[in-house]
Amino acid sequence: MLEQAAIDNIKTKIIEPVNHLINGQSMPASDGARITVTSPINGEQLTTIAAGTTDDMNTAIEVARQTFENGDWSKMSPNSRKNIMLKWADLIYQHALELAVLGVRDNGTEISMAFKAESMSAVETIKYYAEAINKTYGEIAPTNNDTLGLVHREPIGVVGAIIPWNFPLMIGAWKIAPALACGNSVVVKPSESASLALLKLCQLGLEAGLPNGVLNVVTGRGTVVGEAMALSHYVDVLTFTGSGNTGRRLLEYSARSNLKRVYLELGGKSPHIIFNDVKDIDKAVAAVANGIFRNSGQVCVAGSRLLVEADIYDEFIQRVINFTKTMKRGDPLSVDTQIGCVHSEEQMRYNLNCVEQAQEEGCEILMGGKRDNIETGGTYMEPTIISSANLNDSIIQREVFGPVLAVSKFIDEKEAISLANCTEFGLAAGLWTSDLSKAHRMIRAIHSGVVHVNTYGGSDITVPLGGIKQSGNGHDKSLHALDKYCDLKTAWVAL
Ligand code: NAD
Repeated sequence: MLEQAAIDNIKTKIIEPVNHLINGQSMPASDGARITVTSPINGEQLTTIAAGTTDDMNTAIEVARQTFENGDWSKMSPNSRKNIMLKWADLIYQHALELAVLGVRDNGTEISMAFKAESMSAVETIKYYAEAINKTYGEIAPTNNDTLGLVHREPIGVVGAIIPWNFPLMIGAWKIAPALACGNSVVVKPSESASLALLKLCQLGLEAGLPNGVLNVVTGRGTVVGEAMALSHYVDVLTFTGSGNTGRRLLEYSARSNLKRVYLELGGKSPHIIFNDVKDIDKAVAAVANGIFRNSGQVCVAGSRLLVEADIYDEFIQRVINFTKTMKRGDPLSVDTQIGCVHSEEQMRYNLNCVEQAQEEGCEILMGGKRDNIETGGTYMEPTIISSANLNDSIIQREVFGPVLAVSKFIDEKEAISLANCTEFGLAAGLWTSDLSKAHRMIRAIHSGVVHVNTYGGSDITVPLGGIKQSGNGHDKSLHALDKYCDLKTAWVAL
């Protein structure tokens, strides 16, 4: 249970400048450069982080490689590795509020969401993969009697993880935990605008007993340290969540270096579809508004396109507008806030530009569209609803990654499918109907990695999350994620 007094107690704590975490040591950038961290809550300067150099990244990769070769972690007994990771999860649990508050000061997510989706989700993820360590087996192939075919699962080597700013702990854990569970060494590159909580989470891993050099963090700009990681010949797997533009570059860097495996979790423009036979309209209305406006729409699976069957369109849209007006906006460190900050000035400008372009293209702004809470000095945006009648409109095709919902109507199931599939993305979708057969037809017809039925968002660590089309190529979460971080080796033995 989150208590406001506990949050208030720590929310103004001074944050000391932080450095890289390499080989278990705190290390500044090799040239001493720093990046200033500004809070989106009020524009205040929070602290500074090391502005890593190519040399810093190469040092961290070398350390990770050396540790892997030494077998400090890769050859440790599965039970010992499991126990260390369970201890790590326990430490995160003990520091859950501190981590959540630190993260919110850095990236502006509502605290109610950050506590659950960041701190507690990282705890669950690390526990899950810790438990998998001594429950995952190799295989014996069904060969003829005169041979034995064994399939060994082996760690690959050094995993590089590049993390975005929206959910650094949750997404970081989705990558770091299965990579470590398989026995790899890891180098993490957090977003330059949300490094603080992830650094602290990794420090707790060392406190729990991860050997030095197994988990390293290099902070700094994507175009410097991210690029150095992706171009390195000594990184075997690159696991990434972020924008499509960066994802494209990473594939290119891999081709230009050692053909490292590149797993991409990219953007989305997810359709949320309401059929006229929706059973519980109030529930659907709340799910639509929460599905796009919580965390100011900065959620990869945000339901950013609302498609409503024509005969209930007007009523449904009005109800979404009414519900949205009741959502509490403002300081993300208040427990009851539902819509917090836009992450940065840059993201703010982009969001407003998307709204302006929609207007130029003839779309109608039904709600919001402007900057909010200007007096705070922070970055906030009104929840915004825009109607569009043309599937080529930029508001239908382009990911905003802000609190902006594009609404359109459809006349039947066929049109709902073609609208749902009309973008380059395929990350998530949602649909509301009381017709079970229709729901299953839609699940098959929609091109996306996840389809929610009569609910939106939310799931747990047991199921994979990943996109198709230009939303990416890998899956985080579930036991399937382990496949990304281990090699299959065949032993073919004549008997
Ligand atoms: P981004 O691509 O700008 O940055 C992501 C990370 O890549 C950061 O750590 C950044 O420093 C690094 N980076 C930037 N340029 C780089 C380069 N040239 N070489 C190497 N690294 C580089 O994305 P963002 O703005 O941090 O995150 C928002 C995006 O992430 C949105 O598109 C969102 O949809 C997507 N996202 C996807 C998922 C998913 O699961 N599919 C989850 C969350 C966010």
